[in-house]
Amino acid sequence: MRNRLFAACNNTMESKDILNIEEKVYTALVNQALSGMPNEVCGYLAEKDGVVIAHYEMRNLDESPEHFTMQPEEQFKAVKDMRQKGLKLRAVYHSHPETPARPSLEDIKLAYDPNLSYVILSLAGEVPDLKSFRIQKGEVSAEDTQIVNNIH
Ligand SMILES: [Zn+2]
Repeated sequence: MRNRLFAACNNTMESKDILNIEEKVYTALVNQALSGMPNEVCGYLAEKDGVVIAHYEMRNLDESPEHFTMQPEEQFKAVKDMRQKGLKLRAVYHSHPETPARPSLEDIKLAYDPNLSYVILSLAGEVPDLKSFRIQKGEVSAEDTQIVNNIH
């Protein structure tokens, strides 16, 4: 019995490690990243019932192709809006205009919350490449992503 219970718990953990993202949000991220070129763009992803259904574009205060810094006021406003709409902050995203979709050393250093996903959208290749990561104490683990049909 006990083993079965543990197995059930493990399954729950695994299914949490997929980032489901609505197609319209994915498309909006790609458009934001393209229009922000050559600089990195950034923002928050918000989920409802396990699916990312909204994104919050933030200004990149650094205006740089290699770094991003979000504005605390905008971050606060976004989280407040999520609360009002019954959404949950799921991920921090930013674009990599010229490098692969992998966290840089700086990205790893600045990742402050192991409960959030860190999403990187790379425009370095011929087609956009979106990847998601969990970062805990400097350890990076990749997370599956899935583009799903619009449900909202
Ligand atoms: Zn980065």
